[in-house]
Amino acid sequence: MTIKNPHKILFASSEAYPLIKTGGLGDVAGSLPVALKTLHQDIRLVLPAYREILEQKGKVKTIAQFTLPLGRVRVLERLLPGTRIKVWLVDCPLYFDRPGNPYQGTNGFPWSDNAERFALFCQAVSYLALDQAGLEWQPDLVHCNDWQTGLVPALLTLHKARPATLFTIHNLAYQGLFPEAVFSTLNLPWSFWSPHALEFYGQLSFLKGGAVFADRISTVSPTYAEEIQTPEFGCGLDGLLRHRKDKLSGILNGVDKNWNPARDPSLVKNYSQQDPEGKQDNKKALRQELHLPLSRHMPLLAFIGRLVEQKGIDMLLEILPDIINLPTQIVFLGSGEKRYEQALQQLAEIYPEQIAVQIGFDEALAHRIEAGADIFLMPSRFEPCGLNQMYSLRYGTLPVVHRVGGLADTVVDSTPATLRNGTATGVVFNQADSSVLLEAIKRTTLLYGQQKGYWQPLQQQGMRQDFSWRRSAGRYLELYEQTLSEQADSLRV
Ligand code: ADP
Repeated sequence: MTIKNPHKILFASSEAYPLIKTGGLGDVAGSLPVALKTLHQDIRLVLPAYREILEQKGKVKTIAQFTLPLGRVRVLERLLPGTRIKVWLVDCPLYFDRPGNPYQGTNGFPWSDNAERFALFCQAVSYLALDQAGLEWQPDLVHCNDWQTGLVPALLTLHKARPATLFTIHNLAYQGLFPEAVFSTLNLPWSFWSPHALEFYGQLSFLKGGAVFADRISTVSPTYAEEIQTPEFGCGLDGLLRHRKDKLSGILNGVDKNWNPARDPSLVKNYSQQDPEGKQDNKKALRQELHLPLSRHMPLLAFIGRLVEQKGIDMLLEILPDIINLPTQIVFLGSGEKRYEQALQQLAEIYPEQIAVQIGFDEALAHRIEAGADIFLMPSRFEPCGLNQMYSLRYGTLPVVHRVGGLADTVVDSTPATLRNGTATGVVFNQADSSVLLEAIKRTTLLYGQQKGYWQPLQQQGMRQDFSWRRSAGRYLELYEQTLSEQADSLRV
């Protein structure tokens, strides 16, 4: 694409890798700004100054201090590690200087003051976006992400000379819903308490701030952009999203360059599409690390992710004895609901030679699993984009996925026709049902049994796919330009 003028973009997120990450949003916010900078955009990232970030190495300076309705904040500036991207950290110790993750305490429960915490963050982002802090940098567009930034587009509409806004939904199921009583504590204009604004069936919805007020809305895959306009996937907001469908689009996430088996420092041996041999060494090492006996014939299956119903972990648990009977070995890495953690651990104790379970969040192990496994399972009930199926394709690990959202957009099912014409990259099944999932896994193990005929060509085709962030960033840039030109047109009217 031809690059027109560089734009000033303020990218607001509640997490960004490598400073802080709990899931896919962290990956996106750590990668997309970098890719946009290579497209010559003037981009800054704004995040809350969590304790975990402040404890990290790196030069930090205070660039502004001001008082907002919900408290006094300092703005700290540092670089995103390994990049030249400026990160602005909204520092308010009362809300962000605490242990635990961005959204919940060490006991696994959401922080009871999440509404105040992220309302303050949104107020600070709006303040910076209007250059009221005197930093002499006013963005042309604020790119907001998920409910934690949902009030920003709403607050900015209160000002005439304001930047344009794009609101990206990474997961519609998390809406930032709070009781009505919280609304009056946040110092928001009363006009926002309406079903046409932030009210959602008697509750306060942060996400509606973005969905109603942003100039444009996007989500992280074309299929999810369609799905969220239906009652099945719309989480009660499908009517609103249908109403705004002309302003709604879907752009697939990319894969960060640190997910590259040819250079990945976490692997015992690097490998690539041209030279795939090293994958076997990683499989052997992974089995040793997880105390699974070596077996020449059994494929090694893997699951990485949050242990919640969305990810279909309950379906996997239901058929786990059947899966290992095929026979296979299987490794799980994840954390989430205690009932799933315990059920997995119990099964691993019963079948230690075939099931390995690691509870927790371990980035390096996630890389080693992608490199060492043969088959990656993603039976998500819904999946806005999903990253692990793309990592799997890049690592020559065949993804088995439910045909929803970004999974449907990134994996080509192995059918007689796609196997013949060489476009197949994985196995896709059509229904969130454990017996359908089991059939899909059986089908995959049959393909695995025919290494030369089917398996290796499938791996090769997967590894050839281009999921670069540069491509996705180009699409975002087009969307920014479109949003800005629509804003300019509306000001002329
Ligand atoms: P979501 O954002 O819904 O959790 P995604 O597939 O979009 O799901 O992104 C999840 C990201 O978090 C991936 O990079 C995945 O590898 C990573 N991840 C999830 N759970 C773990 C874990 N327990 N340890 C390491 N990485 C994890």
